[in-house]
Amino acid sequence: MYFSTFKLKMMRPITLAIHGGAGTLLKGNMTSEKEKVYKDALASALEQGYAILDANGTAVEAVEVAVKALEDSPLFNAGKGSVFTAEGTHEMDAAIMDGNTLNAGAVSLITGIKNPVSLAREVMEKSEHVFLAGEGAMQFAEDHGFALEDAAYFHDELRHKQWLAIRGSDSFQLDHSDKKDSKFGTVGAVALDAHGDIAAATSTGGMTNKKWGRVGDSPMIGAGNYANNATCAVSCTGSGEFFIRGVVAYDVSCLMEYKGMTLQEAADEVIQKRIVAIGGDGGLIAVDVHGNSTMSFNTEGMYRAKKDSFGTHEISIYKE
Ligand code: ASP
Repeated sequence: MYFSTFKLKMMRPITLAIHGGAGTLLKGNMTSEKEKVYKDALASALEQGYAILDANGTAVEAVEVAVKALEDSPLFNAGKGSVFTAEGTHEMDAAIMDGNTLNAGAVSLITGIKNPVSLAREVMEKSEHVFLAGEGAMQFAEDHGFALEDAAYFHDELRHKQWLAIRGSDSFQLDHSDKKDSKFGTVGAVALDAHGDIAAATSTGGMTNKKWGRVGDSPMIGAGNYANNATCAVSCTGSGEFFIRGVVAYDVSCLMEYKGMTLQEAADEVIQKRIVAIGGDGGLIAVDVHGNSTMSFNTEGMYRAKKDSFGTHEISIYKE
């Protein structure tokens, strides 16, 4: 009995993949010091999430922990490093989904919350709803004991300068650059746990100088984030408006379910063909219940990392 339980555990794969956004990330544009800072931040988030899986924790827990670590870093456009809105504030969006139950939670247009992904998980687990936005989401956060950080916590000098450069204009930018040199600093994680369940989480500050309550794909279940044990768990980053129109995360799942594609084939079909055909750019990370994972992107690079029980351990930025 002991042996068979042991054997079962040994045979069950675990996988974690994370991203810190895709975009015009060119080797020549980055110093080796800067590259190391980003890779260290990715490695730390990866290890924190993987430790949960390694200790028999759930995929939901692992993706939350990994995304929290990325939200706490000023390097990425989520949580602490969120970009500035047209009003000089921070409005964040996040989502989480459990592939076992198809339960999901999402929040958008929230301010002052240190870890938006945890608020999304609270919505999933402690409310009857899936998606809370704006003032209502903030009221829910208060009712559930979430403390607020002041504006200084979210102030990053670089992102402030990027905002000042386009402040007052009608333009808005993905993270901080124009389309020719675009960077999407959204963060995400997908995981397969030792129980055979998968989950996905995504968190973002959206676009610099955004206004009118603009919401991207990241918190939208099926667009920027999706998980279903029957197919895959997906977290996206890229030009949100296109990812919403392409219903990207769910499209990957559908291609697997209805067309019998593998995870890799489905991810490539959406990221390299379908989203490109409508003018979108970006990437995604995805896992399935067998422990397969993919990190597909159509930009020059994507901050990404993955680790699994088959021995994979990768931390990369550029196209190989
Ligand atoms: N997809 C995000 C959004 O449109 C941006 C990003 O990936 O950085 O809000």
